[in-house]
Amino acid sequence: MLSQEETLRFDRAMYRYWLWLEMSDQGTIWKETAKSTGSDDEDDDDNDDDEPEPVLCDSFLRLLSSLPSVELCEILDVGAFAEDTSLWSGKRSTAVSFVANADPAALAISLENGGFDAETMVYRNWEPVRRCIKDVLQSRQVEFDELDDKTPSAIVTAPVGAEDKCSRCESVGGLSLLGVNNMILLSGLLPVHERTWLLPGVLHRNREERKLITAHLSDTQNPISEKDIFREMVELDIASTVFDTYSEEHWSTDEWYCLACIKDLYRQRFLPWWRKTKESAHGATAQEDCWYGYNCRTMTHKNAHALKLNHLCKPTRGDQTSLDPAVVNAVLM
Ligand SMILES: [Zn+2]
Ligand SMILES: [Zn+2]
Repeated sequence: MLSQEETLRFDRAMYRYWLWLEMSDQGTIWKETAKSTGSDDEDDDDNDDDEPEPVLCDSFLRLLSSLPSVELCEILDVGAFAEDTSLWSGKRSTAVSFVANADPAALAISLENGGFDAETMVYRNWEPVRRCIKDVLQSRQVEFDELDDKTPSAIVTAPVGAEDKCSRCESVGGLSLLGVNNMILLSGLLPVHERTWLLPGVLHRNREERKLITAHLSDTQNPISEKDIFREMVELDIASTVFDTYSEEHWSTDEWYCLACIKDLYRQRFLPWWRKTKESAHGATAQEDCWYGYNCRTMTHKNAHALKLNHLCKPTRGDQTSLDPAVVNAVLM
């Protein structure tokens, strides 16, 4: 939560950032001599070898210079926040990380919907503006080190809960801690393909299973929220399943956890949760369990086998402890 003062600073900086992005797109902040600043050429960093760097016009420079340093820092802070958020937002659905200058309107819509529509993202030329703000600050003797210190805290000066600890491992996680109320953040912090890595044995190399999990978690027709997944995993009666190894461990929707602990939750419960979810979504499976369960190597290279037998089960033949994915990968490569 932002304090009233912080909200004011955030709004002020966000409106300026947004306005300047618009002006950048319209070309009104650039010198005439610069080539057309139409958005086509700025989309792609790989393509701009021959493009001269656009130059800011004098009136915009005067505007920048008229603002107090602290307000310029706020704008840098908001710009970095928007970029981080767009990166997070893009990563959760595309599994590709890219740096984008975020369009605040598209970003707000994407956050509101809990979805991400690549088409609504507009890439604009913010970098020269950002550099210019830094130049102005430097000309006022604000040193770079100081600048880096200053910008991340230009808006939020008194974060609430900055010293809060993870309920499970007690490491200080502060505002990065995850709980039922901000679990939506997990979609960008732990993308679906990375979650499949936390399944036991070699399940993450079972392409058919991975396809089903991904389809289920990113189903736009019947979207499932991060909050619901977390709640269902925590409330799962794990002692009644065959995956009861960690049934002593207590998880709660009232607690706050660090990302490392959330990954442990996935290590312990993603498989039983998925098995239950899959069965209730597609009806109880008539598939027979494969003897080698989640350690089965055949499922990693024979789709027909992967489709025919159930692998969401413990091995009853061969090595019965969960294989270490890293070791398995080295062998299978
Ligand atoms: Zn923890
Ligand atoms: Zn098998």
